[in-house]
Amino acid sequence: MDIETDVLVVGGGVAGCSTAYYLAREGVEVVLIDRGDVNAEASGANAGSIHAQMYYHNFNTRSAEWIAAFAPVLPLLKLSNEVWRELAAELDSDIELVIAGGLMVAETTEQLRLLERKVAFENAQGTESTIISASELATLAPYISDRMIGAEFCPYEGKVNPLLATAAIASAAEKSGARIQRLTALEAWAPTSKGFEAHTSRGRILCRRAVIAAGGWCESVAALLGIRLPAWGRPVQLNATEPTQYRIDHLVYSAGEKLSFKQAMSGNLIVGGGWPATLDPATGVQIAEHAMIEANLWTALQVVPDLAHLRLIRTWTGMVNQTPDARPLIGPVPGFPGLYVNTFPGMGYTTGPCCGKLVAEAMCGKTPSFDMAIGAIERFADAEVS
Ligand SMILES: Cc1cc2nc3c(=O)[nH]c(=O)nc-3n(C[C@H](O)[C@H](O)[C@H](O)COP(=O)(O)OP(=O)(O)OC[C@H]3O[C@@H](n4cnc5c(N)ncnc54)[C@H](O)[C@@H]3O)c2cc1C
Repeated sequence: MDIETDVLVVGGGVAGCSTAYYLAREGVEVVLIDRGDVNAEASGANAGSIHAQMYYHNFNTRSAEWIAAFAPVLPLLKLSNEVWRELAAELDSDIELVIAGGLMVAETTEQLRLLERKVAFENAQGTESTIISASELATLAPYISDRMIGAEFCPYEGKVNPLLATAAIASAAEKSGARIQRLTALEAWAPTSKGFEAHTSRGRILCRRAVIAAGGWCESVAALLGIRLPAWGRPVQLNATEPTQYRIDHLVYSAGEKLSFKQAMSGNLIVGGGWPATLDPATGVQIAEHAMIEANLWTALQVVPDLAHLRLIRTWTGMVNQTPDARPLIGPVPGFPGLYVNTFPGMGYTTGPCCGKLVAEAMCGKTPSFDMAIGAIERFADAEVS
């Protein structure tokens, strides 16, 4: 393989596939490489929640400065939701997108007070979340435990099937002219007078421009160019029950403990919320932790007691991408003309299509439909060229 192209996208998760799709749609010549298969890491392992509200523990435990700096992420989440709706209409196949709203339920007065403060903060950023009473909650979501005394409702949260959605985006990118090279690992690259020369496990690629969209491996991909980019991965785990009759449209969280809960269209209940798994230091293999499964399912049972009659059929792990301040790294890489990064930590499935679109707009010389300043790499002093 010896390829010349305008743009090389490194990483075939939702970030890379979406970037390739929006670039190819504009007629840009794109080659996307992945060392494995498309959607084989975080994008294919995730829970498919479409988020718009802030995690309760960030709001509860982070400093006022941190929360203020995170504020511009909320309008980006809202826009991400709109981009998913547009995309669902554009793609050839059903991606099981349901936007019926998210419920963060409170069991104690203290939790409800926290949600009230969180709603006030979110409303100030343009997120139209509201507090609903216990009786409203019982009407809206009768499957929730009657021990819950109220909830935050965020109307534009929901769910999507990540196994269908990334595959559909990749296929749309290919139909628009992008080339996707699977089993092609980037092993080395260097700037040239015309762009970059990349050496992969399957040959050389010369490109004018490039996008680092390698999720939890952005740091190592950037390091190959001598760039320190603080974006790494950590293992988390997720659970699925056996299928049951489909009746839950909402995305459900708890204001007291890590929980994300939803029902897939297949009927399986997907229970997670960022519970940690571990990495075997010798092999790098991700290991699901039994104690975390129990704690996660116990939390879910407090909120949705009907879960008790269902069997857990599968627990799996994935490397969720991180940045030091939980804000994205999106935009041009200083000192490397034509090089962009696209990684959104934690909620990167929600924002994948939107951030792909923004990066593509910037690379096509358009004004991005959202100010990417919140993702500027320059905020990390050690992100400069070493
Ligand atoms: C268990 C779990 C649950 C989650 N739940 C949600 C959720 O409900 N909602 C939500 O919004 N987000 C969720 N997330 C986070 C979300 O999945 C990620 O933020 C998002 O998928 C990141 O997408 P990505 O394309 O940046 O990275 P990835 O999907 O990880 O893709 C990166 C790709 O880069 C490739 N790559 C790495 N190095 C190289 C190299 N040298 N050469 C070539 N290719 C390379 C990898 O093979 C990989 O395919 C969850 C994550 C996990 C793990």
